[in-house]
Amino acid sequence: MPANFPDLRLRRFRKTETMRNMLNIPFPEPSKFIWPVFVVSGTSKKIAIDAMPGQFRYSIDELLKALEPVVKFGVGGIMIFGIPESDKKSNTAQFAYSDNGLVQKAIIEIKKNFPELFIFTDVCMCAYTPHGHCGILEDDNIDNDKSIEILAQIATSHASAGADGVAPSAMMDGQIQAIRNNLNKNKFNDTILMSYSTKFASSMYGPFRDAASSAPGKGDRQGYQASYADLNTALLESKLDEAEGADILMVKPALFYLDIILRIKESSLLPLAAYNVSGEYSMLYATAKCNWGNLYAMARESIMALNRAGTDIFISYWANQLDKIITKKS
Ligand SMILES: [Zn+2]
Repeated sequence: MPANFPDLRLRRFRKTETMRNMLNIPFPEPSKFIWPVFVVSGTSKKIAIDAMPGQFRYSIDELLKALEPVVKFGVGGIMIFGIPESDKKSNTAQFAYSDNGLVQKAIIEIKKNFPELFIFTDVCMCAYTPHGHCGILEDDNIDNDKSIEILAQIATSHASAGADGVAPSAMMDGQIQAIRNNLNKNKFNDTILMSYSTKFASSMYGPFRDAASSAPGKGDRQGYQASYADLNTALLESKLDEAEGADILMVKPALFYLDIILRIKESSLLPLAAYNVSGEYSMLYATAKCNWGNLYAMARESIMALNRAGTDIFISYWANQLDKIITKKS
């Protein structure tokens, strides 16, 4: 035994479940989770996403059905991603801010049925442009300043349909300030602005791109998303968004970036969300499918890792399966 702790045996803490429970930090409540959902046009559609078991593309009527047990279980919010048909895509992403847009219609219907559910919307252009990039493309380059004007219009259009919060994910410089200004100008001062403030160019988005058909046709997103090998600019991204007026910061992906979550949590008093992305979700399903691990035990452990690192809000595909995860003790 080390001299400073002559009689300490940590096994005493672990011997009984009662003592273990006394020392353990609790598993986060369902109210701290946001479930990302994919919306398609039409009715009676519930299309399985092969790369993301347990997740579907829903038409609005089917999404309402899927939300019922999730809301009943106490999940706090959702994040809506619209997946328009290809004939709705354009270089200026007009359908993204149309009053008849998919997201706008979904917000109205969900609010009618679940007024207490907090609705966030993803604000980006990649699903709405034929090239699949997150901004306006000019000669194969993103025009940052034109792009943020469109992003501001998209955010305001979501707020005017009734979204409680908007979450811009395009990683354009100045997007937070442009969106806040536009929201305020249109009297949406109370709309929460949750920034994807530190979003990495990651290889863990593969299953999502399958779900949202949003892979860039040409090139990649390293020109605007943060480099996972550059710690300083990754942290600066969140600092700048805080200065521009973000209400909530976010780290995306989450499990591969626990150090970043911890550091941002320690350096900002703003609430911090972690986006537990598709690849991080699907790899646990893939492992379980090979019988190399228990699915819900792994999910539980991964969520606790985010919890320990300082996550306040969990954006997670596990949100519609929390009933199975929370009851699991192993
Ligand atoms: Zn995007």
